[in-house]
Amino acid sequence: MALYNHILVALDLTEESTQILERATRLGSGSRISLMHVIEPLAYAYGGDIPMDLSEVQNQLQQQATDQLTKLGRSIGVAPEDQYVVIGQPTSEIHRMAEEKNVDLIVVGSHGRQGLALLLGSTANGVLHGTKCDVLAVRVDQKK
Ligand code: AMP
Repeated sequence: MALYNHILVALDLTEESTQILERATRLGSGSRISLMHVIEPLAYAYGGDIPMDLSEVQNQLQQQATDQLTKLGRSIGVAPEDQYVVIGQPTSEIHRMAEEKNVDLIVVGSHGRQGLALLLGSTANGVLHGTKCDVLAVRVDQKK
């Protein structure tokens, strides 16, 4: 019997994503695996006070992210309906998805930050604090 029924793997779609995915796949043999990527709203990134319509750029970003996630999902046989690209703040969207899909393990990458960067927090940290299920933070080798 699989250790976890449903694993949610959160990917930022950088090149580190394959390391995280590989770990999740090995751990999750026999488990249902879902993938998600969160796009932060462009209006947030620019403070919301730029007088221009960013919806076209946002759509393009969403399409690009969907294509990338599809490629990664296909490489490990994740069904298209178990792949999610959503807009919002990564930590809260990951929490929301985990609850909504009845996930029992969330897998994220971790850069093992120190000092100021640690104080400022990380997505892995944010996900860990405030979730009801297990969380696996895969230490990402940034040189790869
Ligand atoms: P960070 O704290 O931003 O270095 O990210 C650490 C890990 O959090 C990444 O390896 C992903 O697993 C996850 N993560 C960060 N940003 C996102 C995002 N936009 N969508 C999904 N997962 C993310």
